[in-house]
Amino acid sequence: MSETWKPRTKLVHSGVRRSQYSEVSEAIYLTQGFVYPDAETAEDRFLNGPGDGFIYARYGNPTVRMFEERIAALEGAEDAFATASGMAAVNGALFSMLRAGDHVVSARALFGSCLFIVETLLPRFGVEVSFVDGTDLDAWKAAMRPNTRVCFLEALSNPTLEVIDISGVAEIAHAGGADLVVDNVFATPILQRSMELGADVIIYSATKHIDGQGRCLGGVVLGSRAYIRDTLEPYLKHTGAALSPFNAWVMLKGLETLDLRVRAQTESAQYLADHLEGDAKLARVIFPYCASHPQHALAKRQMSAGGTVLSLEIAGGQAAAFRFLNALDIVLISNNLGDAKSIATHPATTTHQRLSDAQKVELGITPGLIRLSVGLEDKADLLADLRGGLAAV
Ligand SMILES: *Cc1c(COP(=O)(O)O)cnc(C)c1O
Repeated sequence: MSETWKPRTKLVHSGVRRSQYSEVSEAIYLTQGFVYPDAETAEDRFLNGPGDGFIYARYGNPTVRMFEERIAALEGAEDAFATASGMAAVNGALFSMLRAGDHVVSARALFGSCLFIVETLLPRFGVEVSFVDGTDLDAWKAAMRPNTRVCFLEALSNPTLEVIDISGVAEIAHAGGADLVVDNVFATPILQRSMELGADVIIYSATKHIDGQGRCLGGVVLGSRAYIRDTLEPYLKHTGAALSPFNAWVMLKGLETLDLRVRAQTESAQYLADHLEGDAKLARVIFPYCASHPQHALAKRQMSAGGTVLSLEIAGGQAAAFRFLNALDIVLISNNLGDAKSIATHPATTTHQRLSDAQKVELGITPGLIRLSVGLEDKADLLADLRGGLAAV
């Protein structure tokens, strides 16, 4: 029955495990260990796996399991494994699948820490990596080798919001015997069904929209039952990036309102993009659902709305961008995204500071670029705040 539920119903009810007290709101099982009724049961769980029971919180925990089952139901994935942060999910997904001698093809436009794993860590362990312009399907095809095991990409790139054709890359990956791993944070599970588009493994930083209120770190990897249980779980349970039960509970409650929040934030982002486009102080407004976006048609095909983030290129470079940021009243200067509070980031000097000037140019991270994560405030108040910032430029 629950398979036929619509997303909003799944987000509220899927994965619930009620205790003997029949609580309405999910319980926090803040326990490291579990008691066995007898020695034979203990032996059996270690020998044959815990089944629906538990052994130790590094392997699994009832509150964490509720979060995993709820997000898996939403995504339509067979199974999921939660992690202490989004980066633990990226690390676990990639390191569990790869070994020395394998080859990875990756989109070049990656979140800074993802880039560190792919560009610096994987080659240290004998994994070869080729970077491509993610929007160029011919480049993906040309980069494939007989030993390509994984194709990796962020569905909407950070901070320039390039849209990558998931089904196109999936086809190329599968034709070459590789798996497609998608970091779907910016697209969100609400607006983009990456698994239906052909992704084999999906990663979320739950820190972003899933918490959605700036409280906890968390992450999750979704995929087939065979991948999650036979490949990922042994890696994660022995390396220790377990999600805390308390944080899992926060994420579980975050999921209940995820659809409502993402849709409201997306609607405001579209409103702001529409109203700011053409402003004389802006060289460019980047938003996938604006007709001016280079992959607008693909975005419309692949995503059900434009997302919660837009990027603004302030004319006049870094000094102008800083004047804009410093004049904002409601929008906060910070570096998270997907939060209830709107947040503006200057990628060139913060999240992407580490990149060389050449890499910044290649990725379109100009001195005037601002990434704006749109929150839950009134959209007219946000527009007035952004206009105030632009007046100060
Ligand atoms: C934030 C983010 C991550 C890392 O998540 P953490 O929870 O901060 O570890 C990975 N990928 C993308 C696209 C992100 O935005």
